[in-house]
Amino acid sequence: MKTQAYRNLFILPIVLFLASSVSIAQKLKVYISVDMEGITGVVSADQTGAGPDYGMARKWMTDDVNAAILGALDAGATEIVVNDSHGDMRNIFPGELNTNAVLISGSPKPFGMMQGIDASFDAAMFIGYHAKAGTVDAVLDHTISSAVVYSIKINGIEMPELGINALIAGYYNVPVVMLSGDKAACEQAKEVLGEKTMVAQVKEAIGRTAAKNLSFESARKLIRQQAKLAIERRKELKAYKLNAPYRFELAYFRSSQTDNALSVPGVKRISPRAVQFDSDDYITGCKLLRALISLGRDN
Ligand SMILES: [Zn+2]
Repeated sequence: MKTQAYRNLFILPIVLFLASSVSIAQKLKVYISVDMEGITGVVSADQTGAGPDYGMARKWMTDDVNAAILGALDAGATEIVVNDSHGDMRNIFPGELNTNAVLISGSPKPFGMMQGIDASFDAAMFIGYHAKAGTVDAVLDHTISSAVVYSIKINGIEMPELGINALIAGYYNVPVVMLSGDKAACEQAKEVLGEKTMVAQVKEAIGRTAAKNLSFESARKLIRQQAKLAIERRKELKAYKLNAPYRFELAYFRSSQTDNALSVPGVKRISPRAVQFDSDDYITGCKLLRALISLGRDN
């Protein structure tokens, strides 16, 4: 009897371990949201919009994402969804994306930079992300719209896009395990999401429109390596969440933009340039936030 009990004591953990290994092998879904300002080589709005270097930067963006996809595959990913998240969201060259991933391209889409995320994913990664508006030495720092948004606070925390989007992933219990971008974006990822978040720092900004870049080869090697490690360590990372109710504070650049926002029920002015509203549901609040930013574009 005693021997049998000992045997069970040893066999049970082995069976549990094998069962968990089998389930990992069966399914590992990875979500990747890709912005452009934090892509290797990008230092100017000419490269992220209609300037002469835009076509080249689209290729750099595609190559950075492909490095992240390879890292995800190295870690055993069985399904990868890539969401193009910059500008008109038609930047990544569909024909050059790793064929193991599917691409969400184009806009508008209700979830914007986080279109396609849901509770079926095991991990999320942010590639080519940038620091929040008002950051020193950060390539093209802004928050959602450089023409409209001075700052966004959620529950009192001033948020970069990475935080706003990580809360959407967190809503579905998906941890953001890795981010690539410049030094400032990487620092903000660790500050907001926690020290364990893996980063791939592909450049260090000198002011807002210059940077010291890694070589493309080194950057992509780093992105691939960090993506692999991050997905392997995904269980050590918690999904990012804040407590409901959510208080959103949006500061515009001009008081006239605030005037427009006051036509929306539930939105009140808290300073000449800033409005505030509360939401019990984070996704509903995010949708209102996006609508208020759009209203600010008209004024
Ligand atoms: Zn962008």
